[in-house]
Amino acid sequence: MGRIRVLPDQVANQIAAGEVVDRPASVVKELLENSLDAGATRIRVEVEAGGRKLIRVADDGCGMNRDDALLAFERHATSKLRTADELLSISTLGFRGEALPSIASVARVTLETATGEDSAGTRVEIAGGKFLHVGDAALPRGTTLSVADLFFNTPARRKFLRAESTELAHVAALVTHYALAHPQKHFELTSATHTVLSAPPVARTAERIYQIFGKDTLAQLLPVAAETPLAHGGIPAPPPWKKDPDEPVRDPGSLRLTGFYSKPELQKLNRNSIYIFVNKRLIRDRLLLHAITEAYRNVIPPTSFPVVLLFLEMPPEEVDVNVHPAKTEVRFRQSTVVHDFVRDSLRTALIQARPAAGFLAALGNAPAASPSLIPAATSALPGSPDSDAEEPQSAKAGAAPFGLSPQTPQPIPVRLPFDSISMNRGGWLDQQAWGDAAAALFHPPAESPREGCGPGLVAGTASDENAANAAAQVEAEQSEASLNHLGSLRPMGQLRDSFILATGDDGLWIIDQHVAHERILFEKILRDRQVEKVQRQRLLMPLLVELKASQIVTFARIAEELDRNGFEVEPFGPQTLAVKAAPVGLEGAALERMLAEVIEQSSSESQEPERNEDLTALRTRIAASIACHSAIKVNTPLDPARMEWLLLELAKTSHPTSCPHGRPIALLYSWKEIQRAFHRI
Ligand code: ADP
Ligand code: MG
Repeated sequence: MGRIRVLPDQVANQIAAGEVVDRPASVVKELLENSLDAGATRIRVEVEAGGRKLIRVADDGCGMNRDDALLAFERHATSKLRTADELLSISTLGFRGEALPSIASVARVTLETATGEDSAGTRVEIAGGKFLHVGDAALPRGTTLSVADLFFNTPARRKFLRAESTELAHVAALVTHYALAHPQKHFELTSATHTVLSAPPVARTAERIYQIFGKDTLAQLLPVAAETPLAHGGIPAPPPWKKDPDEPVRDPGSLRLTGFYSKPELQKLNRNSIYIFVNKRLIRDRLLLHAITEAYRNVIPPTSFPVVLLFLEMPPEEVDVNVHPAKTEVRFRQSTVVHDFVRDSLRTALIQARPAAGFLAALGNAPAASPSLIPAATSALPGSPDSDAEEPQSAKAGAAPFGLSPQTPQPIPVRLPFDSISMNRGGWLDQQAWGDAAAALFHPPAESPREGCGPGLVAGTASDENAANAAAQVEAEQSEASLNHLGSLRPMGQLRDSFILATGDDGLWIIDQHVAHERILFEKILRDRQVEKVQRQRLLMPLLVELKASQIVTFARIAEELDRNGFEVEPFGPQTLAVKAAPVGLEGAALERMLAEVIEQSSSESQEPERNEDLTALRTRIAASIACHSAIKVNTPLDPARMEWLLLELAKTSHPTSCPHGRPIALLYSWKEIQRAFHRI
């Protein structure tokens, strides 16, 4: 008896419909998802000519019997869904029953599959949607789908394919993503005879990151893990009169987050290095992107983006995946809860880890636009010169395949077309639950075999030992470099009256006195403002500030907030302001510059200040500006007591890593680096 059924029309009609096959990578995506849904532990992807000529995905999953192998090519035939109700809680990657028929209608497809139970396996050939051959074949358990001559019968679509190397880069990015989400499975990608990716099973995500991206990338990432119980389920419970009194009260489950985020020193100029997985499905989501940007607000510059690998797990009822035909967009039933959970978890992780920027690492870390999370070995792709002007291809011949040597990320683009975000969000919420970050992350839940397909093979734990050792080493070095010891450092003196030099057990620290003080003041101003305790100081003589006509409107808009920050400003003639009081520590030319800066910055904001989001932004902007203009300047001699005070106060801040504009505050020349540089180790 087969497992696959054709969905009744009434169910099929409720499924987000649309074209899913538009390029080789989308074929690979559908086939990979099928293999994962089939409980495979080993998945091999082969492509030729960037997938135009051949795409073959072979797995060791549950396979299909002959009836299913034929039914699988019917429209809306699936083993993953029976009723419309099940659409509300999908736990498989696929559910639409459209991928195989769509692919078979535009290519020459061969399916070879065996369940391991039937005496024989099955081989089906189908081209342009027509069955050519069905027969028995002696095969091991699993499924191999070969897709040749994609779009052979739709020349118009074939014309839209990009250069082979570009298509291959997209395929590589895709396989990489799934390999990241499933560290305990074996992934391989080959192009003709060239191995693009080879990732044997490992126990932990950290090791997988090491396998794919190398040591340098891993060293710049920190683990995060958090869990919070949901107060209630996202789908409303039936009204009491409809409820079965005997039905047990259902546990709404919890939100769980694991992943990696970059240290503030690593900055990207676009969002291409942010990867979000929900229940192991790679998705694009503006809401979560916004949450991530919020977590990094005033830690990295507003124009920069972090590198983030986020794995969110939640009960399947909490997320609607039936939104987009390619299943890359989802809708959360409790979107505010999910947004705030992600923002607060990341923010808390940043505050707790207080990662110190390595002196040498900081040197090489100018913000870069190139996507970093692409396997380095794809740079060695053989390929024709790329005709895509907008997608520059760097072909570095002879780059090492995934091995032990550190790998430099290559600019092979993966485009996730995230739009700019504008959303209405309030201030921070208290963190509800904070799990033991590292412990939880480093023991990800074991992969459970997918439902509906019988038990999958038990994941092989033949862990890649090199990856495990190297990952452990990186983690050990990382835990050393934390700013937690800032308060116990011994300041020795200043370099050119601008940078404090201090020693500690972990090495030599160089602290930028201006940005350090700026961070201290910034957090104090925000705190005082929160409880309306800003200290103001009367000026001996009112300071007169001239405004341009256009700035008067801006000033009126922010006047109240300025007032709450310690300013007392009154109109003095049509285009002049008289400043009578200002926050303590801000005077003279600095005060004038600060006001000009805030008015200037605020006039480029087009939004209305009533919105929460903008008020928070305005508040932080004012705080950052006051802090910047009243902080100790460079070229200022400091006595030892003042230096000690500065370090102690810096240690108490939430983000001693970077100033409110995102510049690093303290750099560590670690004991290890020093020893290495002097050839002692
Ligand atoms: P969907 O994944 O949405 O169900 P597909 O058209 O991708 O639809 O696949 C149809 C059915 O074929 C699946 O429901 C599954 O039962 C079966 N199938 C496809 N690929 C595999 C595979 N690699 N191993 C086992 N079964 C598979
Ligand atoms: Mg599918």
